[in-house]
Amino acid sequence: MLKEKALAYYLDQGHHCAESIFMAASDVYGLGFDEGDRSLLMGFSGGMGVEGTCGLMAGSVAVLGKMFAEALGEDFRPAIAAFHRRFSYLFGDCTECSGIKPRYNKPDTRCAEAVGMVCDLLEAYIEELNDKLPKKETPVYEAVPAAEIKRVKGLGFLHNKNVPGLFQGRVITRNGKVTARELAKVAKAAERFGTGEVTFTSRLTMEVQGVPYDKIEDFRAYLAEEGLETGGTGAKVRPVVSCKGTTCQYGLIDTFGLSEKIHERFYKGYETVKLPHKFKIAVGGCPNNCVKPDLDDLGIIGQRVPKIDLDKCRGCKKCMIEAACPIKNCHVENGKIVWDAEGCNHCGRCVGKCPFGVFGEEMTGYKVYVGGRWGKRFARAMTINKIFTSEEEVLNMVEKAILYFKENGQAGERFSDTIQRIGFDVVEKELISDDILARKEEILAK
Ligand code: SF4
Ligand code: SF4
Ligand code: SF4
Repeated sequence: MLKEKALAYYLDQGHHCAESIFMAASDVYGLGFDEGDRSLLMGFSGGMGVEGTCGLMAGSVAVLGKMFAEALGEDFRPAIAAFHRRFSYLFGDCTECSGIKPRYNKPDTRCAEAVGMVCDLLEAYIEELNDKLPKKETPVYEAVPAAEIKRVKGLGFLHNKNVPGLFQGRVITRNGKVTARELAKVAKAAERFGTGEVTFTSRLTMEVQGVPYDKIEDFRAYLAEEGLETGGTGAKVRPVVSCKGTTCQYGLIDTFGLSEKIHERFYKGYETVKLPHKFKIAVGGCPNNCVKPDLDDLGIIGQRVPKIDLDKCRGCKKCMIEAACPIKNCHVENGKIVWDAEGCNHCGRCVGKCPFGVFGEEMTGYKVYVGGRWGKRFARAMTINKIFTSEEEVLNMVEKAILYFKENGQAGERFSDTIQRIGFDVVEKELISDDILARKEEILAK
């Protein structure tokens, strides 16, 4: 992280070596330097103009001073001496610009390689010094009024029952998948604003522990630098959960792609739409149900439906289909394969396994479940009686279900209760037709 930032200053903004490492460390560790402070370091670049002590050394020492001089007291100078030795070792017993520059300077990138090396050294050293610092006593936080606790809950901050004034900040992951940069940002945010601990929720979001009330906005702004946001609470569409079906060997659909579309269109798109209760969505790549889509308000499961041509069956001694079906839904009887259409979960593992072509593929698609829930009360979702064959159809079904819940759900009831009260057949009929979509604006305006 420090390296990327420093190289951005060095290569993209034309800062010199000492200023680049200084400004980058300020960004990463929250040292509060601004562009004006940069002038403090300007004279050190290029070994103070005479190829003396390397500017990267000067910039690093300035950063270490800001971060540790006070905290380490008498131990600070030995700490700087130790850094000096490491720096020297890194460059083959050299700390002078005159010795480093000829080896690392390149026409297009100047001393970028050396900048990166020193950033790695400094980052690791800062971590080491941080570990040596005496642990701070737990500060006392002021209690927060109930109305504020409620307001920040809407932003994704849950009040810590043990420490008034501290919150768990819920970071949205879109669908449980984050980049290494995003993960690093959350880790840094946890160190900078929280206790340094992050918990993972059962719905694949992350919660940074111990964010003080007065740091909530700073925390959000810091995460936003990497495009991350907090939220995921309240009576509305919740962050979507997805399994790894896109890459999993059993995955039948692109779960990451579909869940990202759901995130954009319904988590973000319906962010301001108040519903009778929370509305949870999960996308699973196959009937293995790793993310339990049938326990969500709306679940989607990848399907591969076999097409069976019984006439081709030769009643083999060792049937490849019997061996392939994980739920033992097929067996050979009187010289022919017997397939239980009702019991088949459309996992598709049998497709193409018969050497005589008995089990081909009818279609690949999506099954949609509605009305599941898990928690204080449990309900297994019911299946819409149709295999959907396009993502767009599935996305429309999600939208219809949300609109239906908004229009017909009573305040405080989950979608499962709404379906039970009205009757699944009635709800299913409405969801299969497109009438409700035609009334979208009218429903959202209510
Ligand atoms: S549900 Fe299926 S596709 Fe998704 S992770 Fe589990 S086994 Fe893989
Ligand atoms: S389904 Fe295929 S492998 Fe199984 S018994 Fe029939 S022909 Fe043989
Ligand atoms: S689709 Fe899956 S459950 Fe159905 S018969 Fe084939 S292997 Fe068995």
